[in-house]
Amino acid sequence: MQLTPLPAFNDNYLWLWHNSTHAVVVDPGDAKVVLQALEHLQLHLDAILVTHHHADHTGGVDLLREATQALVYGPAGENIPGPHVALRGGDTFDWQGHRIEVIDVPGHTAGHIAYFSPALGADNAPVLFCGDTLFSGGCGRLFEGTAAQMLNSLDRLAALPGATRVCCAHEYTLSNLRFALAVEPDNAELKAYHDRCQQWRANGQPTLPSTLLQELAINPFLRSRQASVVQAVEQRVPCGGDEVAVFAQLREWKNKF
Ligand code: ZN
Ligand code: FE
Repeated sequence: MQLTPLPAFNDNYLWLWHNSTHAVVVDPGDAKVVLQALEHLQLHLDAILVTHHHADHTGGVDLLREATQALVYGPAGENIPGPHVALRGGDTFDWQGHRIEVIDVPGHTAGHIAYFSPALGADNAPVLFCGDTLFSGGCGRLFEGTAAQMLNSLDRLAALPGATRVCCAHEYTLSNLRFALAVEPDNAELKAYHDRCQQWRANGQPTLPSTLLQELAINPFLRSRQASVVQAVEQRVPCGGDEVAVFAQLREWKNKF
């Protein structure tokens, strides 16, 4: 199986997950980019997976469905271009022998879902398509949900296997890491990762997919209970050690950074 990020708009990635003949695409905000890739790689599109209702994730769904007859999957709790298979946390389905599990991750939007597929055989890592919930070095803005919901959603993702390939929907990594370094200036792993990402971007390469293990070491939003992060937040706004308050203030800090 291969993971190919298709760049779209300013900083979106539409993820193509495929073998040599069949593909699924995640959050196709733009149909043309996907159709070109399918043509170029000679792939049949079986399914379209949607994580949440924002236009940069759904704008190409209708056209793609029409052009390919692909089956559309999406969150039961949100309005996305129908008809689609409406999914909730805990639902599973199969694609090309892979099991795909649905995880509820409210916060960025109220009905946001993520797709996880466990490892299959020795040469396939687990894969996570997390939309705008988890980014490398950061997390999504709280447009419809609360800090408590987002913290809970990130906890669910953090419990997945460390080797999981984290496929985020935006290339926000470098600006996220600048913030992460302000929060944890002494995190050596973070500094090293920032250097590597700068190199990749300078070479025109994506910083994604990341891995969950990598994110657990560098992403302040997955590290909001670490003493270093708690201390940095409490120094700005006293939270009395409350973990949701710390997370909320961390998100606020990033919003204004
Ligand atoms: Zn979004
Ligand atoms: Fe987005």
